[in-house]
Amino acid sequence: MPTFEKTPRNTVRQKSVRAQYDQATIYRIIDEALICHVGFAEEGQPYVIPTNHARLGDSLIFHGGTTSRLLNHIQSGAEICVAITLLDALVLARSVFSHSMNYRSVVLFGRGHLITDDPEKMRALEALTEHLLPGRWSDARRPTQKELDATTVVAVPIESASAKIRSGPPMDDAEDYRLPVWAGLLPIRQQFLDPVADPKLREGISVPDHVLHYPKRTD
Ligand SMILES: Cc1cc2nc3c(=O)[nH]c(=O)nc-3n(C[C@H](O)[C@H](O)[C@H](O)COP(=O)(O)OP(=O)(O)OC[C@H]3O[C@@H](n4cnc5c(N)ncnc54)[C@H](O)[C@@H]3O)c2cc1C
Repeated sequence: MPTFEKTPRNTVRQKSVRAQYDQATIYRIIDEALICHVGFAEEGQPYVIPTNHARLGDSLIFHGGTTSRLLNHIQSGAEICVAITLLDALVLARSVFSHSMNYRSVVLFGRGHLITDDPEKMRALEALTEHLLPGRWSDARRPTQKELDATTVVAVPIESASAKIRSGPPMDDAEDYRLPVWAGLLPIRQQFLDPVADPKLREGISVPDHVLHYPKRTD
């Protein structure tokens, strides 16, 4: 099973029993998340920017307008750090001190480059579209050359990564288990509700299957 090498940069030190470095676990979390947060520093100023991502093979893909500071930073080849978080439950302990969260998170590092080749750019945009909603790329109108030229697309090969996963019940101090305080998990799930048609939708267009049966829907 491919595993990311543990280095001083990606080795989880705090609660290291929760760490995982295998590619399959890390890629599953990346693929399930719809958004990520990209961290980078410019002239000593840190920025953390939320954005949409997709994984294409061993790279993350990002896109945006040509004036985006984030994308300009990535295409310069400078270091970035990406955090991805899936929240699974609030962990309600008997003591306030032991409250926690169940989560699956990834932190990864890499340096990006601009995708200039049009067919490669289209494949990256397809990956971004399909990551949001599988089936959408073949349903919606594809980008025109003008739209393609107005879009910056970058790829970041994943150099180093770690996952950290907390699951299971609260962990109170031994003496607190006698307290008359309710304790347990309050599970959280990302839930997609019924589609809402655009008021400007042409008549006679029904909701397509790929929207009705969204694979990431958990209801
Ligand atoms: C939803 C959520 C809520 C959290 N709440 C808290 C909180 O309230 N208080 C708290 O102290 N911590 C919390 N954590 C854990 C937090 O993300 C850090 O792991 C922890 O604070 C230790 O930070 P550190 O810089 O000392 O990590 P270190 O263990 O020193 O980090 C070393 C390296 O490990 C990797 N790493 C660290 N954290 C993560 C992670 N979460 N996922 C993947 N790789 C990681 C990175 O590559 C990092 O460079 C939370 C995590 C999540 C996902």
